[in-house]
Amino acid sequence: MTAASLTIDLDAIAANWLALNARTGTKVETAAVIKADAYGLGVGPVAQELANAGVRSFFVAVTEEGAALRKAIGPRADIYVFSGCDGTDVTTIRAHELTPLLNSPQQVQRFFAASGDAPFAIQLDSGMNRLGMEPADYAALSRAINERGPKLIISHLACADEPDHPQNLAQLECFRQMTDGVTARRSLAATGGVLLGPEYHFDLCRPGVGLYGGLPFADAQPVVTVSVPVIQTREVSVGETVGYAASWTAKRPTRLATTAAGYADGLIRAMGNGAVRLWSGDTPCPLVGRVSMDLITVDVTDLPQVPDHLEILNKHQRVDDLADAAGTIGYEILTSLGGRYNRRYIGGK
Ligand SMILES: *Cc1c(COP(=O)(O)O)cnc(C)c1O
Repeated sequence: MTAASLTIDLDAIAANWLALNARTGTKVETAAVIKADAYGLGVGPVAQELANAGVRSFFVAVTEEGAALRKAIGPRADIYVFSGCDGTDVTTIRAHELTPLLNSPQQVQRFFAASGDAPFAIQLDSGMNRLGMEPADYAALSRAINERGPKLIISHLACADEPDHPQNLAQLECFRQMTDGVTARRSLAATGGVLLGPEYHFDLCRPGVGLYGGLPFADAQPVVTVSVPVIQTREVSVGETVGYAASWTAKRPTRLATTAAGYADGLIRAMGNGAVRLWSGDTPCPLVGRVSMDLITVDVTDLPQVPDHLEILNKHQRVDDLADAAGTIGYEILTSLGGRYNRRYIGGK
């Protein structure tokens, strides 16, 4: 049997970017975050599609991702590296014309010493306490930094997916206090920040998950379809059990389909708790028993005939639905979709 297939709708990604872009003013640039292989969907095709749609700035997590992205899209866009540059990767940063977001006094000093007038950007911590220079560290270096002209100064919101969370305003205030008056362009908003409103937009917004159809961008078009071949069907009688640990027991005569995907494909075991369904067209069929490494069992009793495949991700059941059922978030579902799928890209220029 062949592996399950993962279909990525490039038109939907472009449409999501355009929709987020339309929510910001005409003077605000909308970039794209494509770290972690474009949230698991494939950095080459996704970046090319987004560049064609109009993206001029991309963000990745680490230098290696930046180098791969530069190969994929050539010289036509700026590439920012969130984790910055520690000195050992200056050569790679420069060779691929990447712009590091310098996150600490050490990163600033090393980069300034090692790289002449190469472009750089700055990440400030405004309250998330994860990555970026603390206000006091930045204050001590801000003159030297701003004399050298950073391409961009950013910070990141911790609670932007909760519009009423008081930390949003506190971080906005902190970011303004640190950066009001600088000539560099500024950026605070990821997907959640775009939706919070114009005071969060500054000069550049940098959505990621919303491009790929995930919350908090509730109006996003779905991007991913996962279709799983049916390998075998069987009839089980009342009282028979299914799968590892015999955790599911038939309460009616049941027609069972065994399908070819499992937790090695990112369909994590926690989905096997009764909430997830697989779809035949518009008809849902419950997943029963445990998810195993390569197999998922499905109750298809109510279908008029057994189809040759069932969908676990589609417009009816989106990444955030699967995530809710499994007690996680859409980001984790997307980036877990494994390497075994037959990947197919549809749409695109
Ligand atoms: C991942 C990330 C983003 C994009 O966030 P989304 O919630 O996916 O839109 C933006 N900025 C930083 C610093 C990030 O780490």
